[in-house]
Amino acid sequence: MSEAGVRVLDDLVWDEVTAATQGAAAPCFQCGVCTAVCPWGLVQKEPVNVRRLIRLAQLGTDGWGEAIWLCTTCGLCEARCPRGVPVSEIILALRRLAWDRRAVPKGLPSMLWAIHWDGNPLDQPPSQREAWAKGLNLEPFTPEHELLFYVGCTGAYDRRTQKIARSLVTLLRAARVRFGIFPDEPCCGESIRTVGQEEYLAEVVAANTERFKAAGVRKLVTVSPHCLDMFRSHYPPWDGFRPLHYTEYLDQLVSDGSLRFKRELRGTVAYHDPCYLGRRHGIYDAPRRLLAAIPGLTLVELPAAREDALCCGGGGGRMWLETHAGERFGDLRIREAEGTGVEWLATACPFCVLCLEDSAKVLGVERPRVVDVTELAVRALGEASS
Ligand code: SF4
Ligand code: SF4
Repeated sequence: MSEAGVRVLDDLVWDEVTAATQGAAAPCFQCGVCTAVCPWGLVQKEPVNVRRLIRLAQLGTDGWGEAIWLCTTCGLCEARCPRGVPVSEIILALRRLAWDRRAVPKGLPSMLWAIHWDGNPLDQPPSQREAWAKGLNLEPFTPEHELLFYVGCTGAYDRRTQKIARSLVTLLRAARVRFGIFPDEPCCGESIRTVGQEEYLAEVVAANTERFKAAGVRKLVTVSPHCLDMFRSHYPPWDGFRPLHYTEYLDQLVSDGSLRFKRELRGTVAYHDPCYLGRRHGIYDAPRRLLAAIPGLTLVELPAAREDALCCGGGGGRMWLETHAGERFGDLRIREAEGTGVEWLATACPFCVLCLEDSAKVLGVERPRVVDVTELAVRALGEASS
């Protein structure tokens, strides 16, 4: 940018930016709705100028700065954009260029190395991948199984979200589903995609696709909506491949009578829509039907629900970057849920559980308690959680 604020276009940069964004910014007419709705405007004095980022992409020039790393890919701006501009995909394309320029935040290269060496972004030893399933005697997946239970890196290693994976095992067993796991399950690559490392992502997706096909995987059920998004939208489909989120699958089991909730659970619950389940894949009703199927439980809607839901702050690679106190979207969501007076704030995503629970702890909010849908469902089985 010149001193007078005039941007000088550079042919090479123009080629790079237009190739990376594939002209997706062209329909933008600079209305500014994206900037107005972006949740960063609720937690920072200066909202992220999303409109400007899209303008730079449209002009085929750079100068986007640190702002590209803030996007949680929540999709709220995309849902509201009158021109249907894929804002977060454009931002991920700019992140890809930032890797070429070695202009990426500290911490991201080591997160990718952790996936390369250990198979997970949490930098945990591969030998502990199955620790979440200790004592459950799960079967290694074979083509005779009805489905592959894909736990994902967070469900496998994070101590809090391991409980979600174990609750889901209890539910699948209660419905007599024959399922298997991959003992050395590979990372789906979601964190690689959202930080924009396209070349490495292509390697991981190709290797996993071969492995899954060779193992005879067809139906696959994920704990995380982020893994679901990878398998459903960023893997090449193969014959019979059907990735499902657990809320969709459990909803089917309830509706065909395979899964029954017999124990009453008196209380009120609000449901937080994870961005990657709701706005990304339109899965709004299955988790609500599951909660509604629990006897005694009353579902209360949050003021911002479904398409309007506020992001927890954990998507778009933000789990691997520092978010300063006072700037966490989860704090706003906890206050919103607190205002409804519910006992539980249920959600269906490991990242959401972690972000919301963290905010509740920092704010000292004890009611509502943050839970995953599986955890309430297990209590309604009338069986002890495994
Ligand atoms: S909302 Fe859409 S059209 Fe409006 S400035 Fe943002 S990207 Fe452009
Ligand atoms: S996807 Fe979400 S975080 Fe990213 S720019 Fe749009 S509203 Fe902001």
